[in-house]
Amino acid sequence: MPYISLNPATNKILKTYTSWDTHRLAESLEKSRLTQEVWRQSSFEQRATLMHRAANLLLEKRDELALLITQEMGKPIKEARSEVEKCAVGCEYYAIHAAHFLQDEPIESDAGESYVSYPPLGTVLAIMPWNFPLWQVFRFAAPALMAGNAGVLKHASNVPQCALAIENIFRESGFPDGLFTTLMIDVDLVNDVIASHSVHAVTLTGSEPAGRKVAAAAGLHLKKCVLELGGSDAFVVLHDADIEYASQVAAASRFLNCGQSCIAAKRFILVPEIADEFVALFKQKVSALKTGDPMDESTQVGPMARLDLRDEMHRQITDSIAQGAEPVIGCKPLEGDGAFYAPSILDHVTAKTRAYHEELFGPAAIIIRAQDEMDALHIANDTKFGLGSSLWSKDTTRAEKLSRELHAGCTFINGMVKSDPRLPFGGIKASGFGRELSYHGIREFVNAKTVWIK
Ligand code: NDP
Repeated sequence: MPYISLNPATNKILKTYTSWDTHRLAESLEKSRLTQEVWRQSSFEQRATLMHRAANLLLEKRDELALLITQEMGKPIKEARSEVEKCAVGCEYYAIHAAHFLQDEPIESDAGESYVSYPPLGTVLAIMPWNFPLWQVFRFAAPALMAGNAGVLKHASNVPQCALAIENIFRESGFPDGLFTTLMIDVDLVNDVIASHSVHAVTLTGSEPAGRKVAAAAGLHLKKCVLELGGSDAFVVLHDADIEYASQVAAASRFLNCGQSCIAAKRFILVPEIADEFVALFKQKVSALKTGDPMDESTQVGPMARLDLRDEMHRQITDSIAQGAEPVIGCKPLEGDGAFYAPSILDHVTAKTRAYHEELFGPAAIIIRAQDEMDALHIANDTKFGLGSSLWSKDTTRAEKLSRELHAGCTFINGMVKSDPRLPFGGIKASGFGRELSYHGIREFVNAKTVWIK
């Protein structure tokens, strides 16, 4: 199968690439293993020098990389530039902090001296998605390489130009050839990579079905695995929330990246006192969003990344309407060649509808009306996912108390859920396990090794 780079705004093919055969793959994995054996001996200072260079190079090439992102997966160009900048911030963060995060930790015991050290695991396979085609990869690669690992990337098949550009950033920054490699392989070969003696761990960001398969393969071969899967984040609005502000952030969170973000607010859970007012204000904000050509600086919502994803989301919406949900705005594809979908709100979503139970990975918000505050918290937890969540109330002390009842990897109070290199990121339940970012992230792919000296 060739890799096809296709512009979802126009449906035109930009480039195709032939996939690698098993021989080329084996050669590449072996090179990665050998390179890592040398790299693990390098000092944090040496690694940091190169990681700072990668950050600078990302900024130098910001516009060129942003263009690739927008052309391959349809994100508005302004958002694409911010994504590149965020990658540079991630590289800087780990260049500065990795040595501290991984320094030996003395622990008193019956030894003359005992401590924990954190040597790298080896080569880590990263299976990555198209929605933040650069950020998802750098979020993994910056800590992994700083820890002394090598990385091999199986990127989503619709973003091959981004995948190759990332490899080039590391090479041009001076990282040894083979330390970070983009594997141009079909998904069928992923199991072989996980099984390979040259690969020591795996991380996947993507869908729940892909996560289950990768976790099973990692389990079979007893390799460490981190999964960052989907989410259907609750956005719980209580009676004393600042409704105007909450509705603004609701629109920003749900429609960023055309709604294709794992931590986008997806389920807007409202208590009766504010429900109608919130829906009216939210509708105003969503109606004002500018949809169109992602290359236009003023566009806020571009096309979805692929036609098949758009068609699947439309099926989820039409099924939910047939099951009793009520369209408030949008809820239909836009005419033309690209994978455009109208920014949508679906109200009166209940447990009888698909939209209640499934993740809607596109520009569609669902409103669930709760009976009261306790019911709102119950609905927030009534999902197989557990990635992010947010609570909206002027009484932050109370909201903080209630946040402890939300089953998710994070709760933001009166703010939009976002990833930040300083804070751990990840989920529970069907949203996966393990953490990225912060010192938690860099400790996923190291060996917490006890040293005991008499
Ligand atoms: P996938 O999970 O299919 O793709 C993500 C990555 O996993 C890609 O690199 C893909 O490769 C790879 N992959 C797919 N199947 C397997 C497998 N069996 N073994 C190993 N790797 C695999 O996501 P989609 O692109 O199909 O998007 C569908 C849904 O996934 C979305 O609607 C959303 O729910 C979720 N998703 C979540 C993301 C997140 O940030 N958590 C990001 C993107 C999607 P290939 O492209 O070659 O198939």
